[in-house]
Amino acid sequence: MSTKYVYFFGGKTAEGNGQMRDLLGGKGANLAEMCLIGIPVPPGFTITTEVCAAYYEHGKKIPEEVLPQIDEALKRVEALVGKKFGDSADPLLVSVRSGAALSMPGMMNTILNLGLTDASVEGLARKTNNPRFAYDSYRRLIDMFGSTAMGVDHDHFEHELQQMKEAKGVKLDTDLNAEDLKELVRRYKAVYRKHVGDDFPQDPRKQLMLAIQAVFNSWMGKKAVEYRRIERITGLKGTAVNVQAMVFGNMGNTSGTGVAFTRDPNTGENVFYGDYLINAQGEDVVAGIRTPEPISRLKEVMPQVYEQLCDIRQKLEQHYKDMQDIEFTVQEGVLYMLQTRAGKRTGTAAVRIAVDMVREGLIDERTAVLRVNPESLNHLLLPQLDPKANIKPVAQGIAASPGAASGIVLLSADAVVEHHEKHPQDPIILVRKETSPEDVAGMHLAVGILTSTGGKSSHAAVVARGWGKPCVVGCEAVKISEEAGTITIAGHTVKAGEYITINGTTGDVMIGKVPTVLPKITGDFATLMEWADKYRKLRVRTNADSPADAAKAREFGAEGIGLCRTEHMFFGEGRILAMREMILASDEAGRRAALAKIEPLQREDFIGIFEAMDGYPVTIRLLDPPLHEFLPHDHAAQEELAQSLGVPVAKIKERVDELHEFNPMMGFRGCRLPIVYPEIAEMQVRAIIEAAIEVHRRGKKVLPEIMVPLVGTIEELRFIKQRIVAVAEECMAKAGVRIEYQIGTMIEVPRAALTADQIAEDAEFFSFGTNDLTQMTFGFSRDDIKSFMPTYLREKILPVDPFQSIDVKGVGQLIEIGVRKGRESRQSKYGQHLKVGICGEHGGDPDSIRFCHQVGMDYVSCSPFRVPIARLAAAQAALGDIKRDK
Ligand code: ADP
Ligand code: MG
Ligand code: MG
Repeated sequence: MSTKYVYFFGGKTAEGNGQMRDLLGGKGANLAEMCLIGIPVPPGFTITTEVCAAYYEHGKKIPEEVLPQIDEALKRVEALVGKKFGDSADPLLVSVRSGAALSMPGMMNTILNLGLTDASVEGLARKTNNPRFAYDSYRRLIDMFGSTAMGVDHDHFEHELQQMKEAKGVKLDTDLNAEDLKELVRRYKAVYRKHVGDDFPQDPRKQLMLAIQAVFNSWMGKKAVEYRRIERITGLKGTAVNVQAMVFGNMGNTSGTGVAFTRDPNTGENVFYGDYLINAQGEDVVAGIRTPEPISRLKEVMPQVYEQLCDIRQKLEQHYKDMQDIEFTVQEGVLYMLQTRAGKRTGTAAVRIAVDMVREGLIDERTAVLRVNPESLNHLLLPQLDPKANIKPVAQGIAASPGAASGIVLLSADAVVEHHEKHPQDPIILVRKETSPEDVAGMHLAVGILTSTGGKSSHAAVVARGWGKPCVVGCEAVKISEEAGTITIAGHTVKAGEYITINGTTGDVMIGKVPTVLPKITGDFATLMEWADKYRKLRVRTNADSPADAAKAREFGAEGIGLCRTEHMFFGEGRILAMREMILASDEAGRRAALAKIEPLQREDFIGIFEAMDGYPVTIRLLDPPLHEFLPHDHAAQEELAQSLGVPVAKIKERVDELHEFNPMMGFRGCRLPIVYPEIAEMQVRAIIEAAIEVHRRGKKVLPEIMVPLVGTIEELRFIKQRIVAVAEECMAKAGVRIEYQIGTMIEVPRAALTADQIAEDAEFFSFGTNDLTQMTFGFSRDDIKSFMPTYLREKILPVDPFQSIDVKGVGQLIEIGVRKGRESRQSKYGQHLKVGICGEHGGDPDSIRFCHQVGMDYVSCSPFRVPIARLAAAQAALGDIKRDK
């Protein structure tokens, strides 16, 4: 039997179904599924994603054997509709729609009304007795076909439309009559001819084949490729093509088109949410051609249609057991569904919907836990405007994606990309009339998005929600002048580069910066987190080196500190000078004298952190960075230091030169420091143990874990461990108190992973420092990847940046070896379980967390803000990951 390339759907039957997303794309699979559950869908067929793959294999040609299958499916559509494609008296018209397994901006826009020609447009006008409708459909076809299939700039057509409206003195496209539209068709054809160099094709069959090819071509278009890169989407075959009989929302006042969500995608509230437009077609609602009406109004305008739509809303949710994003068209009072898919939602909505659906009995707790994308929780952790701040909104738009953001105004996506390259720290708010798929790279880098047009379902709104970025759309008070590089908001002029603040939760826009505060975990969010905690096996700790961060992380559910870096403590006020004195000292006595000044301060730091962690373990890393980082490098600062310490500036310069390294990341740092200067580690250990004794005396439990960084050989660890034990014993003997403490090591040098069996003889715990481990495994300096990583990713030399997500094949192998050898050795030698965790930035990355779960780590540690994300990701890893429908 030959391969099936084309799947028919229509009536109450379909050859495909909702499970076949990989082959039919999401849109095609769901059109089939809707037919199967008895929802009214215009008939059509789906050309599979395999044909897209074959198209590229055949040098951009549709394989011959597909063609007869298309013909056959088209015949079935003709039979159901009772019209013939290409008939000039009563033509069957179709739409050509793209659709991959995951919905994806950048794919080809839909072409509607395909099959119309100079001859059949007259037939259609006669047959429907509605010439206005016929010519409106034709001019739309020429525009859509010209711009999406043949690459003519849509603005050229738009320009003709505007001219026509001006000439006729009307504002809306619906005010143009049949004669106007007929004339417009003539002008559109001229535009087409001028830019394509050929006449608009009068052969419907040719239109169809060109449109199908255009869909396939868009798969490799810049926008789609860019989107897949950002979203790390790999492994798809291509896009499917859906060819579907047209239904018409532009036949007059009993027709219309709309888009809706079965629940509010911003808040998750269980209300019907969406917009529609009367006498309109296709993307009119989204494109902001006219201001759409809220879906609730339909109840008055078309009560029966509204009721039917509400039934379908219920039916779809019951069937898919998830919130749906739907598209529909009403042709002369008859409702047709054109699309359904799992709706994109904010993190806030995702959590609420998941928890609500458990309450409603639609899904169970596990499904709820699996349903929410961990990254989307960012959204619930987004800063909100400080309620105590003096907030003076100057304008209000539509609240499209919640959270508040302050940033500098920039007026184009390119400007954002450019600025970000030079000043990656600057928060940016992208301000535009509207956004389009070309803008995604800039939108991704912005902290917030503000548009002056568009509604809740505009491109900006949908994309921002997907990424959990604050977004305000349709803020008409914003006037943008790209030439002047300024915007005015209700009379206030703001230059590009100046700050504004947006509140995507309310739609408010403010001039300047407004202080923000951090949210708390309550309500549905807390419920979902409880469920996650039930299922996860990994513990979640945090990376924190101040009592404030430690306390925040506890609120977010951290179960200890996995990495407390001590170097930041040496930069504090009153400390850096003593530190420098220590580095400059010419002998051990001098170093000890300087360290003695830091010790009491360091002890206080640890007391604060132990108090905040209240009985949870705290892993403290001994001083790690190279010493030169603590010395001033410019002359003026060196002069100043010379003054403060009363030493000649030449001496400082000499020491700086001495400490200079060609490759500081592989230089005099980590455990190499206390091997040369044991007094540094001794001071730190004294501060740790004395702080622990103090907190213990205050009646609190303390679990200090002293961690030696950058160990590569067991001898390094032993050398330092001896000193740590000696000092700790001395402190405890003096105080007459015993503290439970552990000594362990970071595994971040490949040699340590390979010799983990030996190292575990002297380490009570391992913590994988995956930043350094990645750096040394690849030989990539992590501070210098900017020059080649973008190319590596674009050319698919690496699938993802290994500093963001663990490189499972290489670095992961070292981790596996380390865990296995370490555990076996500890077990056989002492009968003890070796505690293993991760403290690199990967500890907050859901994919990496899944890996940590798989290799059997005890915990992950991440920044305080990622703790809830890690809790959820750990639960999903434990529940067995399912493909999330984005
Ligand atoms: P997208 O993937 O961008 O949502 P669609 O393929 O869903 O693109 O098409 C966009 C819009 O075009 C639909 O929402 C619908 O309004 C209109 N459309 C598509 N196919 C048809 C059709 N067969 N009849 C009427 N309208 C259609
Ligand atoms: Mg659609
Ligand atoms: Mg390190």
